[in-house]
Amino acid sequence: MFTRLILTDQLPLTCSRKGICCHGNQVFLNPWELASLAHQLQIDTVEFRKRYCDFFGFRLRFEGTENSLGKKACLLYQSEMGCTVHEGRPLACRLFPLGRQIQQENITYIFEGNDFPCNNGCSEVNFLPKLSVESYLKEQKTAHFETAQDAYLEVAQSIADIAFMLLLETGLAESNDTETLQEWLKLGNASPQKLAEKIGIEWLDLLTIPEIIFEKNNPTEFIKKHLELLQHEAQIHIDSMHDLQQFRTGAIQFMAMALLVAKSVGANPEELAELWIATAREYGAKG
Ligand code: SF4
Ligand code: SF4
Repeated sequence: MFTRLILTDQLPLTCSRKGICCHGNQVFLNPWELASLAHQLQIDTVEFRKRYCDFFGFRLRFEGTENSLGKKACLLYQSEMGCTVHEGRPLACRLFPLGRQIQQENITYIFEGNDFPCNNGCSEVNFLPKLSVESYLKEQKTAHFETAQDAYLEVAQSIADIAFMLLLETGLAESNDTETLQEWLKLGNASPQKLAEKIGIEWLDLLTIPEIIFEKNNPTEFIKKHLELLQHEAQIHIDSMHDLQQFRTGAIQFMAMALLVAKSVGANPEELAELWIATAREYGAKG
């Protein structure tokens, strides 16, 4: 259940800075955001992932000090100063209490439920100045982070295209294989941890901590290079495959990657898996 917003809506968007939403929350990261956070702390992405993330870099760890409600803090939160990476924080944190949905290229800003989320713990926001959604987005400097989010959704589609190719253009689908689509269906419902296990550490490293120089005002270039790197490595991997079993394993592995990247940018893996399975069936795949 969501409340859909328009840019001119006036809402109590002045934060009371109690840090309620930095506790007991879930914040997924895309790889550009991970690089942004590491850059902000001036440590490398390998170290950042080890210290602050779970799911191999796809989510921030909330294992810090508990607040009075018994909720653990994001490890990047300090009670005396709040967020320690404010300039580099990810889109989910910039937008909160708002969220963002994309449907057929239309972007809608939302908040969850009927009641304004900050009322759950920070109801004093109602006595602070209101802001329009548009002003809030500008104030939070979301533009580059929104660009990154959208670009990584396209990366997810491009990785899914590799899975399609392995299923549809290698003879696997013609062999009446049904296992691949059954596995894709299971992946749609799998936890990020299960998806990560299917992917394997070598590919997780390429997905989350690519060796690409981070420029804070240019997510497009970073993500373009990242996609090129993934496609290059995928080609090498595919060239080493020789039989249907290897094509099947590859089709499942690349689908797991596509779904985990999609999850990290807020897409629904279950819906995506169903959509991609329906598309594969249209092209003759069985299962
Ligand atoms: S819940 Fe709202 S008001 Fe409270 S700290 Fe988070 S954004 Fe600020
Ligand atoms: S990154 Fe910063 S704003 Fe986001 S949850 Fe962690 S401490 Fe809070």
